[in-house]
Amino acid sequence: MARRWIGIVLGGLLVVLIGLGWEPAPAAGPLVPLPRVTGLPPMQTTAEAVLQPLKVMQAGPTDFAVSSADRLLAQTAPPRQVMAMADPSNYGDRFATDINGRVVRNDFIAVLHETVGSAQSALNLFRTHHPRDQDQVSYHTLIGRDGTIYYIVPPEKRAFGAGNSVFNGPSGPETVRTNPAFPPSVNNFAYHVSLETPSDGFNNRRSHSGYTPAQYASLAWLLAQTTIPDSRITTHQAVDRSGNRLDPRSFNGQTLFSLLRQYPTRSGLSG
Ligand SMILES: [Zn+2]
Repeated sequence: MARRWIGIVLGGLLVVLIGLGWEPAPAAGPLVPLPRVTGLPPMQTTAEAVLQPLKVMQAGPTDFAVSSADRLLAQTAPPRQVMAMADPSNYGDRFATDINGRVVRNDFIAVLHETVGSAQSALNLFRTHHPRDQDQVSYHTLIGRDGTIYYIVPPEKRAFGAGNSVFNGPSGPETVRTNPAFPPSVNNFAYHVSLETPSDGFNNRRSHSGYTPAQYASLAWLLAQTTIPDSRITTHQAVDRSGNRLDPRSFNGQTLFSLLRQYPTRSGLSG
């Protein structure tokens, strides 16, 4: 009975408010930042927080073929880690809604890149203040030739790593538009990791000599701390819709995944 009266009173109030010219806020209000994120690597991992011992790899019909050249051993100890924070103009918030006010709930993807130039020149670029939207670029992390991990953008923030982009997931295309001036992109739910390019790749050719064992080991170590399944680890080339991104060129996915599945934290995430 009381509930009915409350309903009548509230309904009457709404009629009065609308009569006074008040109307409900449109769905496309200011974008709401995501309150927090889980399942992405922290900015830095201490030596005490070492991952669990490696699972013994067993040969069997479920293991996919790994050539002896690819049989690298995953590392348990954290690689060298360096904080190299980007200027705040080069990253932003992850949002809980798109520009139309629709709630977005994409699971995270990892997007792999390469620097094309040296790691140092990329880090310098990210440290530079960029007031114009079109100049703002960043990755969350960068992995140098010696395996050093540089943390650039906090994982809970949005790095500007892929412009016009779509992830073709098992449940269909995923992309989010949060800026009316730009095409939709994967940045809202992407964790961007870049590999330093070898010097014979500082050009526009289609291939180069590839990445070091230390880079693959550090990349696997980093991704082993996430809850991102193998099926959501992708490349800039695969998500790009501008038609001119080929990175990371000469990347060996089999090497990465054979390292990654040595971590017990990854069991159940290889689908
Ligand atoms: Zn890229």
